[in-house]
Amino acid sequence: MKGVIFMFCNKCGNKVEDNDIFCNKCGFRVAPEMGSITFAREGKFYGSLVAIQVFMDGILVATIKNGTEATVPASIGKHKISFNLWSGNDIEDIEIFPAHPNIKVFFTLKAGAVTSKPRITNIINL
Ligand SMILES: [Zn+2]
Repeated sequence: MKGVIFMFCNKCGNKVEDNDIFCNKCGFRVAPEMGSITFAREGKFYGSLVAIQVFMDGILVATIKNGTEATVPASIGKHKISFNLWSGNDIEDIEIFPAHPNIKVFFTLKAGAVTSKPRITNIINL
């Protein structure tokens, strides 16, 4: 989904780059302040009865059952995502870019020999 995107400052008309947050000519904010993350849990037989808690920057934002999804607001920039479950709580970094403020994060509960953990499998721009 990468391509040439022409953006212009709404205040002075200056051309701005994809991921500029402020106009480099007049300082006007050209990027949205908020985007969103949709957490989509893949439907799997394994662990299907277990609801997974999703934390963003340490705050519980969603509880997601097998094969469902939830969309939460998220500011532009980096966020730490973790999934709370009995077997672990790995933290993964996700960045929301100004040019693509809405993203979808696919994850699944994977069975392991010793532990079973939710894992991110794909991230796409909406
Ligand atoms: Zn400007």
